[in-house]
Order: sequence, then C-alpha cells, then structure tokens
Amino acid sequence: MNIDLHCHSYFSDGKLSPQELLSEAHKNGATILALTDHDHIGGLEQARDNAVQYGINFINGVEISVTWRGRTIHIVGLNFKPSSEFVEILEKNRNGRIERLQKISDKLQKKAGFSGVYEGALALSNQADNVSRMHIAQFLINQGYVKNREEAFRKWLGDNKSCNCRIDWINLADAVSLICTHGGVAVIAHPARYKLSATALRNLIEEFINAGGIGIEVASSLHSLNERLNIALVAERYNLYASAGSDFHGYNDFNRTLGKTYELPPICRPIWDLF
Ligand code: AMP
Ligand code: MN
Ligand code: MN
Ligand code: MN
Repeated sequence: MNIDLHCHSYFSDGKLSPQELLSEAHKNGATILALTDHDHIGGLEQARDNAVQYGINFINGVEISVTWRGRTIHIVGLNFKPSSEFVEILEKNRNGRIERLQKISDKLQKKAGFSGVYEGALALSNQADNVSRMHIAQFLINQGYVKNREEAFRKWLGDNKSCNCRIDWINLADAVSLICTHGGVAVIAHPARYKLSATALRNLIEEFINAGGIGIEVASSLHSLNERLNIALVAERYNLYASAGSDFHGYNDFNRTLGKTYELPPICRPIWDLF
C-alpha cells in the first residue's frame, strides 16, 4: 500500500532532510505521506513544499514521547494545525534530552569503557536539543564499540538496559489533548512494540480514548502479521481507526520502505478516510 503515516527526518532521529525524504517517497510511489518526527515539527513546512511538487498528499504529523505509568509510549498526531503553543510544548518535551545524554555518556564510560559519547552523539544530531538514543547507537557503531543498532539497544541502550536513563515526558492525556485541540487526530504508535500485558494494553487504550484519542497503528513495520491481526481486532473492539506507517528513519532497515506499508486487514477503518 502506498500510504505512510509515520516516518522521520533529521529533525529527530532520521538521517535524511525533509527534502530528501520526499524525493525518496516519490521514487517509492507514495500517495499519502505524514512526516512524524519525535517531539518536533520543524520539518513540516519543507516537507509539504516538496510534497506539492510531487503531487503527494502531505499530512502534518508528529510522534510525541509520553510517560504512561512509568513507561515511554509514543503517540502519533496527524493532520493538526500547529500553533506557537504547540511548538512550545514540544520544545519543553525535548528538555530532558541533553541531560539524559550526559548521564548515558557517563554510564557508558563507567560500565563499558566507551569514551566520547556525549560529544560524539551531539555531532551526529542535526537538532542538539532533540538528540536521541539512535544518535548514541550510531556513534557506538561508528567507533566499532558495537556491530549494529540492535546490539547497541540489546546490550546497553534498551528501555531496561544498564546504560539507559529515563526521561519524564509529557503525560498521555496532555499529549492527546494537545493534538485534539489543534484539530488533529491522535494515534497510539506501534502498540505491539511495548510488550504490554493484555490488561495493560486495555488500560492504555481506555485512558487514550478518554483523553480523546481515536486511532491505533495496525500496519507498522515493527509489527508481525500476527500482531497486525491482533491489533486489528483490538481496533475493531474499541472502535478505533487504523493507521499505517513505515517508521522509516533513513537507515537501510530491511523491512522498512519509505512510503510503503502493509495492507490493513479488511475489518479496519483506515484513519486516512478522515483527511
Ligand atoms: P529516544 O527517543 O531518544 O529515547 O530514542 C528512541 C528511538 O530509538 C526510537 O524512536 C527508535 O527509533 C529507536 N529504538 C528504540 N528501541 C530500539 C531497539 N530496541 N532497537 C532499535 N532501535 C530502537
Ligand atoms: Mn525513532
Ligand atoms: Mn516510536
Ligand atoms: Mn517513529
């Protein structure tokens, strides 16, 4: 399917500029595309200008980092109209990133003997205040400290690994309401990624719906066929619209193609019917 409502540019942890991203999406035949950088909307204008050239239907997007019951959850916002308040709240949400980088850098030095992580990760990040664990992982790869991104997260940087450090993000209800009050729709990103119990997933969805959320990612590159079918059933049960996204970051991940996603199972109601 040539619809992609989840991808990243160098305004967060992607490799490409918005312009390069649109050119790649066009090559891949995308018809509808949303750029959804983590906690940043600085790339939307440039992306939209380029989308117009290619006749791609461009949708404003963002992927907001949220803390829910002590875990990090990602909420995708689509089709909102940005305001200065919107920009300020995202900026505030990025506040903890530099400090976290310093802490992770200290831990990696102490526990693994890896040097220069702070400066190295910052040098790879186009937006200093949006520096990500992806940049840290890339630095570790470049230095030969790890073989690949999977190893970096599995050994050191993953959510429960010894060198990670949590950030207190905005809460779920505030993120959803920010998106809704700006005319957008809120979507739970890659729900199968969090490895929640069935009860926890129900709690998350119920709180999300109470806050005004109406969508859930079914077709994500991070989901297996089984997970896509399961989430489709969950979406039907809660009357949620289904979204689809590659979560492309500009790296050569074998299963992620910008502008292309899996078909939705036929029971789904596509969220792009609303745009
Ligand atoms: P951050 O927002 O800085 O905490 O970084 C999170 C980003 O790292 C996610 O958006 C993914 O792009 C990437 N990521 C998180 N966990 C993994 C993992 N286990 N393997 C590979 N990439 C990951
Ligand atoms: Mn990312
Ligand atoms: Mn995500
Ligand atoms: Mn993402």
